[in-house]
Amino acid sequence: MGEKLVLAKWIVPSAYEKPIRDGGILIKDGFILDIGLGEELKVKYPNANKEVFKSGIIIPGLVNGHTHIPMSILRGIAEDLSLMTWLHQYIFPVEAKLKRDWVYWGSLLSIIEMIRSGITLFCDMYLFEEEVIKAVEEAGVKALVGEGLFDFPSPSYGPLEKGFELTESLLKNFQNHSLIKIAVCPHTLYTCSSETVKRCIKLTEKYGVKLHIHLSENQEEIKVVKERYGKTPIELLYDIGGVNENLIAVHGVKITPKEIELMAQAKASFVHCPESNLKLGSGIAPIPEVIKAGINLALGTDGPASNNDLDMFSEMRTASLIQKGVKEDPTVITAKDIFYAATEGGAKALGFSDTGKLAIGYKADLAVIDLSNHSLQPDYNPFALIVYTAKAGCVSHLMVDGRWIMKDYKILHIDEDMVIEQIDRIKTEVWEIIT
Ligand SMILES: [Zn+2]
Repeated sequence: MGEKLVLAKWIVPSAYEKPIRDGGILIKDGFILDIGLGEELKVKYPNANKEVFKSGIIIPGLVNGHTHIPMSILRGIAEDLSLMTWLHQYIFPVEAKLKRDWVYWGSLLSIIEMIRSGITLFCDMYLFEEEVIKAVEEAGVKALVGEGLFDFPSPSYGPLEKGFELTESLLKNFQNHSLIKIAVCPHTLYTCSSETVKRCIKLTEKYGVKLHIHLSENQEEIKVVKERYGKTPIELLYDIGGVNENLIAVHGVKITPKEIELMAQAKASFVHCPESNLKLGSGIAPIPEVIKAGINLALGTDGPASNNDLDMFSEMRTASLIQKGVKEDPTVITAKDIFYAATEGGAKALGFSDTGKLAIGYKADLAVIDLSNHSLQPDYNPFALIVYTAKAGCVSHLMVDGRWIMKDYKILHIDEDMVIEQIDRIKTEVWEIIT
């Protein structure tokens, strides 16, 4: 692959660096070889193929730190319910009859939505994850994926023992894949016993991979875990050896100051999913406290059935606004803090060390935000536009490993009409289960 010089009105390399006006990025073999002022790069690399975005902001590809993408097939199935009612009365009964091809088509539907939201990397926990992997490879995006493990039988692998076998075979098969990494995913501390979670921790140690788990999502979970073990969820996980650099702790809505300290000392990562937490009435996580403690923060949408979209721009805005509102202080969190969580913080949490920012030696994973969209004018402050104004549809181009996967709003490797057709069929089949 030859050298490619991508030029734009603005380049935003990372959350805490100054945006480059009239900047450029030199890309070769999927990596960023140089970054700086466009005019200087044009002189330095006269033979590079040039692509110019006169009215574009180039940002690092966004990282959706936690989701269940196949659940797009269940978007709108049950609304305005508590987490436990939503899960036990609606989601689990449909999932008990889940079909492999539903997961594949639901994944493609969600990946289309995520590409349009500037997402190049996401973290998924669900069932039939081999189908998610198939969709990821076809679309050309990146993902950390893992089969959701529960003590009760799963519609994909059956008894838990088979779930461990599946997880271990995925861990062996995807050790050096350029787009995909595998995580071990015990669902929660109330759907998995502490013995199950201990086995999961052992597996993460054996393969040096991430432990991806929902923790401290709402008051009901705290009550159940306390009744069963006499401890809060993160205290329990700490006591069984699961709070360390491998931990991706999702939600933490009810995290205590003591648990924040445990996570900070252990260098664990925290994924904040504000819109899902609001929609399910779980509460608001203490994010300024988490950042102040030095915990690596990522941002996620959670599944599209509890959000109900996969728009990381909207997630960034919500994450910021709710903290300002609840603390009655607009200075309590900045656009840059949130942008960090949606990019570099996410990549770090997911264990992808060469993406999440635009820097020499990093992978060319980037999104172009189209400033010709009227809602994005004028462009005094790129960070404010990205976090407080942009929306999913504002992204015109998306690149992963130096390869365009969306150009001029056209997604290159997915047949979008076919996906809509298949989703319509699946909707009829799901409807038969719940009516
Ligand atoms: Zn979740």
